[in-house]
Amino acid sequence: MKRNTVLKLSGVERHYGQGETQLSILKKADLTINSGEIVALVAPSGTGKSTLLHLAGLLEHPDGGEVTISGNACNGLSDDKRTAIRRSEIGFVYQFHHLLPEFSALENIMMPQMIAGLPRNEAKVRAGQLLDYMRIGHRGAHRPGELSGGEQQRVAIARAVANAPSLLLADEPTGNLDPETASYVFEALEALVRQSGLAALIATHNHELAARMDRRVTIADGKVVDF
Ligand code: ADP
Ligand code: MG
Repeated sequence: MKRNTVLKLSGVERHYGQGETQLSILKKADLTINSGEIVALVAPSGTGKSTLLHLAGLLEHPDGGEVTISGNACNGLSDDKRTAIRRSEIGFVYQFHHLLPEFSALENIMMPQMIAGLPRNEAKVRAGQLLDYMRIGHRGAHRPGELSGGEQQRVAIARAVANAPSLLLADEPTGNLDPETASYVFEALEALVRQSGLAALIATHNHELAARMDRRVTIADGKVVDF
């Protein structure tokens, strides 16, 4: 598989507050992730993992530096263009699944595809394939409230990749699961990434899972460093 750079952060800055109370979370931080690569982001709470993911996901603007997604330098772009890139290139998974409670698992995965313009029947076929891939094909008709925590997260992962993004950003996706379930969910996520050539950045406190990823980075003194 051809490797190309999917995410590039160059000299990214993020500061909160002003003057003496200013908090510098990221100071000229650099990070490059290629397609097919799974990178663990492991750092203590409050060091800026979510901030980094929000910047990489174009949900926030950096105070300096550049965020490049699949060759698109994003800082100077209009909000509409950023939203378009976010929708087509990026999938998110959070610690809590954020599935729509009144819709089935299958419908939750169909939704982003239909918003992107895919016909209902095609969205349904792909949603079913993704559920099978996450090994919960038999759960498609169930609403999120009827699923276990691990099953909910597998649906959330399937939804995040429904529109075939090039970058998957996950913010402590197994943080709410017991170790065995976390391991199983990560296994499914990993298989999906390997098969699709996605690039993935996964914030986690789970060192066992981090050890299974391709590369591990942390945030130290506002910079992203390998460890
Ligand atoms: P992590 O995800 O690693 O726990 P965060 O990225 O959520 O860390 O936060 C990093 C630091 O930035 C924390 O000290 C947090 O309180 C601060 N912070 C995050 N968002 C804001 C904000 N909108 N305004 C002010 N401070 C913030
Ligand atoms: Mg966080």
